[in-house]
Amino acid sequence: MQGAIITRQRCFICKGLLVHDEKRRGCFCPKHPEVAATKFIVRFPGDIYQNHTSYDSAAQSLNYLRHEKGTRQGKFNPDDYRAIKPNSFASLAPKYLERKKNLASFRKIKPIIKRAADHFGYTNIREISGGDIDDYLFEIPGIKDKTRANHCAQLHNFWQWCYDRGIIALEEMPKFPKIDYELGYRKITNWEIQEKVVNKVRELYAFNPKIGLAIDMLSTYTTLRPDDLRRVKESSLDDNGYLIIHNPTKRKNKFKTIRLHSDHITEWCDLQKRFPGLPDAPFFRHVTSITRAKQGIVFGANYLSKAWNKAAKEIGLEGVSLYPGTKHTTATETALRMGTGKALNASRLTNKAFERYCQVESTDAFEVVSEIRKAKKAGKLLSMKRTKIENE
Ligand SMILES: [Zn+2]
Repeated sequence: MQGAIITRQRCFICKGLLVHDEKRRGCFCPKHPEVAATKFIVRFPGDIYQNHTSYDSAAQSLNYLRHEKGTRQGKFNPDDYRAIKPNSFASLAPKYLERKKNLASFRKIKPIIKRAADHFGYTNIREISGGDIDDYLFEIPGIKDKTRANHCAQLHNFWQWCYDRGIIALEEMPKFPKIDYELGYRKITNWEIQEKVVNKVRELYAFNPKIGLAIDMLSTYTTLRPDDLRRVKESSLDDNGYLIIHNPTKRKNKFKTIRLHSDHITEWCDLQKRFPGLPDAPFFRHVTSITRAKQGIVFGANYLSKAWNKAAKEIGLEGVSLYPGTKHTTATETALRMGTGKALNASRLTNKAFERYCQVESTDAFEVVSEIRKAKKAGKLLSMKRTKIENE
């Protein structure tokens, strides 16, 4: 195991070093076991030294580092994990505000950046995706869309500043959500059309059925985000049919679990037979060498979006991108069928955010998913008030 928890504090009786004792969850003097440290340092290869004022926080952080090192391997950059996490949102925000303090608009910028800093905390900005920003923005309770768009624009400026300073590369710039505050609601579609797009994706991308499966999954599990899929590994599906995904944007070791429908489990298993991979290999990867993408490499951040757009265009659906076309459409359709009360309860969102977002999760989610599959299979696609689709 790499790394350790140490302390610079010494025993006040014998001046001896205090030694880490994992069982007692602390650092103690071997001769005077009642003498315990109150300050801890997490030491990790790559010159990482983090100060912690509680043992729990030190232990959690060490576990996190071990996990990150294990999953990122060669891409593990110690700079991202040093004491103050210099490239995290919370560390960069005060610097950013310092540069903006003479602007007339500073009064407006400050609360927006501070609110986001509270939310994203010490998450490395490189790990905050467009989806995370989208979730964050749409979950701010009690604001009008115009204000939401303003939050979005300010966060965009912040990221631009990070890019200008060389903290992130251009390809690491998240895709910011478009907030059309005049329309108020984002353009979504319905299940019939969503189904057509999914089938078209499967047809156009038959050379890699994982693309179709990925988009089908996004259309089914509303808690799943495109970025989650990029973290799914060959070994991510457990024996009970739960997909377990590490979520680095949530603090410490948070895992997202999604119970898959049997259709998807069957397809998953078939694909594993067709395209065998090591347990650590990304599941959603290129299986053949195509232009600018090599076999075995995980799908790029916008790969599924492009596939969706291409298929959508072929069936004449315009202006509905991957996120609204899968997640938001399904959440809305589910709410229409199962009642907003149930969907809202499951979503754990505020009423206001739910109106925009209609996300369904928690324990009700699987029940909802089963209903979705049943309704789709039986062709029970009720006619309801739809968003108008151009060129249909
Ligand atoms: Zn002692």
